[in-house]
Parts: sequence; structure tokens; C-alpha cells
Amino acid sequence: MEAESKSVVPRSSRWRRWGIRLSKGLGVGVLLLLLLRELFFSGPYLPLAKPYDGKILDMHCHVAGIGAGGSGCFVSQELRNNFRFGIYLKAFDVTLAEAEEQGDQLLMERLAKGIGESRRVGAAIVLAMDGVIDADGKLDRERTEFYIPNEYVAAETAKHRNLHFGASINPHRPDALERLQWASDNDALLLKWLPSIQFIDPADPAHEPFYRKLAELKLPLLTHAGQERSFTHARDELADPVRLRLPLSLGVTVIVAHVASTGKNEGQEDIDRLIGMLGEYPNLYADISSMTQVNKLGYLRQAITERQLEGRLLYGSDFPLINTAAVTAWAFPMNLTRKQMQSIDAIDNPWDRDVALKEALGAPAAVMGGPAKFFGVPLGQAGAD
Ligand SMILES: [Zn+2]
Repeated sequence: MEAESKSVVPRSSRWRRWGIRLSKGLGVGVLLLLLLRELFFSGPYLPLAKPYDGKILDMHCHVAGIGAGGSGCFVSQELRNNFRFGIYLKAFDVTLAEAEEQGDQLLMERLAKGIGESRRVGAAIVLAMDGVIDADGKLDRERTEFYIPNEYVAAETAKHRNLHFGASINPHRPDALERLQWASDNDALLLKWLPSIQFIDPADPAHEPFYRKLAELKLPLLTHAGQERSFTHARDELADPVRLRLPLSLGVTVIVAHVASTGKNEGQEDIDRLIGMLGEYPNLYADISSMTQVNKLGYLRQAITERQLEGRLLYGSDFPLINTAAVTAWAFPMNLTRKQMQSIDAIDNPWDRDVALKEALGAPAAVMGGPAKFFGVPLGQAGAD
């Protein structure tokens, strides 16, 4: 009994011992991380060349809408209940109450204001978002998560000098060709698809007339490829880049959003499937939107260092996603110095922050200046405002 009671350590000193052990462990861990960083720090993906000195066109920018103010937009109850909805609204710096009271137009105004305040980005193509079309050719509200009508985006972008119209038309609509003509007549700069969400199979031969019309109107098709995780449901097999062979072979200019990162089909990375098609199709392009997201690490490196993608990459932000916790300079400790990570994350304007991060990682001037040239939107010199 006596011997046993001697060996009992008082609780306080047990805690202290654990505390010392833990802090020692943590200290060793931090030292190890610093050492690893010292050993493997590789700097930017590409040597920092001269940054693009003109104002940039963001060719991939989203707007949201809840249907207030007669916009015609809607968000499914499911997405509304999803945690993402609040994050998206916050990214626009708009509360639900404000949007309900002042209308969806407020989000468009905030968008124009944010871009107006950007030192680097001079304008953006704002994307409409068509929905799922049912067997009767009608908008399937049950299966559509997010709907932004062309009429709304066309009318609103016309009010703001720095916003341009990006149309979205599901080819399953019975009047899809007339809608395409309407979009073109109303100054749409491109047509946007999200096949895995809109349930469009780009390889379906039934879309041939639609593709011919796109080619005739010289409207580029900006289409999502790769895995989609920004919505609640997605049919990722429809986003296989290989399915784009049909529009490409019919002469449509195709821009694949975020270089088809992430996702796989037939055991192969979608980005590799896309790269494998570049030699065959000179009309195939890709944008670098959302490629700094924490779930896409490594893909921007592959995109900007891949020789075959030279001259095919265009800058886009994928706003509002760049203005959420999914993007931070601190995700790149092997490529950016602590000072860089700190100063980039401290930039207030979401577009300036996005440009700074992508440039610090090595995105070349040709990529940043690409969209203004590609879409023929002259924006002048940076800092000229
Ligand atoms: Zn997007």
C-alpha cells in the first residue's frame, strides 16, 4: 500500500508533464515543417516575367439572383438551404434582406462597383445560367438549382460600362437556335454551359444544328469540364472533355473552364484528356478561373507550364468563388514567401487579389491579357482610370 501511494503522481504535475511533452512535440513539428519548406521551397511555377500592363478582362464571372426585383432568377430550395448559398451572397457583400428589398439588380451593381474599384481588372463577362430542360422542352424548375435568365443579364450588363453579357442556352430548348440569334443580337460575347448541372451531353449528335449556329455566329462556347462541386448535384460524366470533339470538329471555338481540373474519366485525369486534344483542335482554349482553389492545388502549375497550352490559356476569376475561404495565398507555402502570402491575402479587392495570386505563382502576361484580345474588348492601360 505504502509503495503504491508513493508512485502516484499528483494530477497537476501530470498535466504539466503532458504540457511539456506537447509543446516539445509541437516545437519539433514546426521545426520540421520549416525545414521541409526550406528543402522543398520551389518558388513560383514559372519565373516571374513582366506583368501584363493593360487592364484585364475577366472572362468568367458569375452573378447570383433570388428572383427579387422581377429579375426572373431563381435558386432551388435545396441550394438555398445549402451552406454554400450564404457564402455566395456574402462574397457579393449583399445580405438576403438587402437583395429581397432592393432586388437582384443590387448584386449586379456590387459587381460593377467591385470591378470599377479594381486596379487590374477593367471589365468582366457576366454569365447567365440556363437550367435543366424537361422532355416537353420546358424549364424543369424541380431539377434546376440555379437560374439566371439571358434577358436579365443582357439588360443589366448594358447598364454598366464594365460588364459584358455572357449568354447561357440549353440546346434542349425547342427555340434554342432563335435564342442563340437573340443572344448574338444583344451583344453576347460567349455562350456558357455547365453540362453536368444542366444535363447536356456535348457529344449528342442532336446538337449539331446548335453547334453550326454557334460557329456561324462566331460565339465561343465556354463550357465546364471536370468535376463540379459548387452545386449540390452533378453528373460528372457529361463534363468529360472528350465529349467536346463534336462541337470542335464542327468549327465551334471551345473554351474549357479551369482547364478541366479536377476529376477523372476512364481512369485518366480530365486535364490530361483535354491537353491530349490540343494538337488536333486549334479552336480549343481553356480558362484559368478558380484554379487557385484549395481543392485544385497543382493544376495551375500544370496549366501554365504545359507547352501545348501556350497561347490557349485565358484569365478568368470564377467570382464569387475567389472571394470565399476556398481561395487563400496561404495554400501555397512552397511557392510563395511568407511576405507574399501575407500581402496578397491583405488585398481588399477580390479581383486584384486573384490577379496578384495568379501572377505571383507565375501566370504569364499573355494569359492575363489574353481575354481582352480574344474577345476584342479594348480596356486601355492599368492604372489609367
Ligand atoms: Zn464558373
